[in-house]
Amino acid sequence: MKRGSFPSEKIRLKNFKCILMEILRKVSEMRKISKKILSEKKSIGFVPTMGALHAGHLSLVKKCVEENDVCVVSIFVNPVQFNDKSDLKNYPRTLKKDLALLKKENADFVFVPSVEEIYPAGFDLDVFVPKIAKLFEGKFRKGHFRGVCAVVKRLLELAAPKRAYFGQKDFQQYLVIKKMAEKYGFPVKIVLCPIVREKGGLAMSSRNARLNEAERKSALVLSKSLKLAKKLFSQGEKNPEKIISTMGKLILCEKIFLGKSFPRIDYIEIVDREKLSPVKKISKNCAVLVAVWFGKTRLIDNSFF
Ligand code: AMP
Repeated sequence: MKRGSFPSEKIRLKNFKCILMEILRKVSEMRKISKKILSEKKSIGFVPTMGALHAGHLSLVKKCVEENDVCVVSIFVNPVQFNDKSDLKNYPRTLKKDLALLKKENADFVFVPSVEEIYPAGFDLDVFVPKIAKLFEGKFRKGHFRGVCAVVKRLLELAAPKRAYFGQKDFQQYLVIKKMAEKYGFPVKIVLCPIVREKGGLAMSSRNARLNEAERKSALVLSKSLKLAKKLFSQGEKNPEKIISTMGKLILCEKIFLGKSFPRIDYIEIVDREKLSPVKKISKNCAVLVAVWFGKTRLIDNSFF
C-alpha cells in the first residue's frame, strides 16, 4: 500500500508533529526496542552516523522516515575506524544540536551508545572484511574498513533493520558494507543515497568544518574536476587515463587562495561500480573517485558517469 493512501497511526501522529523521539544509550535498550518493533510486524529503517550532522546525513534520515514504519538513527564516533589518533580526538561532537535536527526530521529513536557499550571488555573485534576494502581508502587509511565493518555489523545486529541507509559520498564504504552484510546474511537492504552538496558544489562533510577560508575555496576544485570528467565522457572520451590526467592537472593548478600550498592528491581513479576495479574503457557503469588533501584536511568525493 502506498504511503498517504491509508495513513498509519504513526503518520497521522507525525502530521500533527506530536511524536516523541526517544534516546537510547544502552545496548540492552536498543535490543529490546528492535525486538518489540519486529514483534509488532513493523519495519525498521536505520541510519548509522558519527554525529556532527549536516544536510547530507539528514537526507538519509528523511528517506528512512519515508520508507519505514520506524526510523532509528545511531550516533557513535567509532574509535576503531580511525587510523589517525588526532583525527579521532578532533572529530566534531555536537550531540545537542544533532538531537534537535533529528527531532525535526521525525526520527523515532536515536541510539547514542558509549564506547564501552559497543565494545565491552573482551569484545571480539574479528569481522569479515571484503577484498575491495584493500583498495583506495583502505590503502590510505590502514584498518579503517575493518573498524567500519566491526561497528556496522554490531549495529545491524542490534537495530535489526529492514533497510539501512548509506551515502554515495562514501561510495567504497557503501560497497564494503553491502558485501559484509551479504556475507553474514543480514536480512537488510543496504540503500544508497545521493551526495548532498553545498551551493558551490563541495560535498557536505563533517570534516569541511576544518577547512579555512582559503582551503574551502580551493576545495571547490574537487566537484569541478568530477564535472569535467563527466563532460569529457559525454563528449566521447572513453580513455580513463586521459580523463584522470586532465582532472589531476585541474586539481593541482588550484593554488590554495592566499597561501602557498597546493592540494595533494592521494588518488584519482575511474572504476567499475560493482567491483571497484580500475577500467580500461569508461562506460555508464563506472564511477570516478577522488581523495585530495587541502592543508591538513583530507576530502573524498566521487561521481557516477
Ligand atoms: P558519517 O557520520 O560521516 O559516518 O556519515 C554517516 C552517513 O552519512 C554515511 O553513510 C555517509 O556516506 C553519509 N553522508 C555523509 N556525507 C554525506 C553527503 N554529503 N551526502 C549524502 N550522504 C552523506
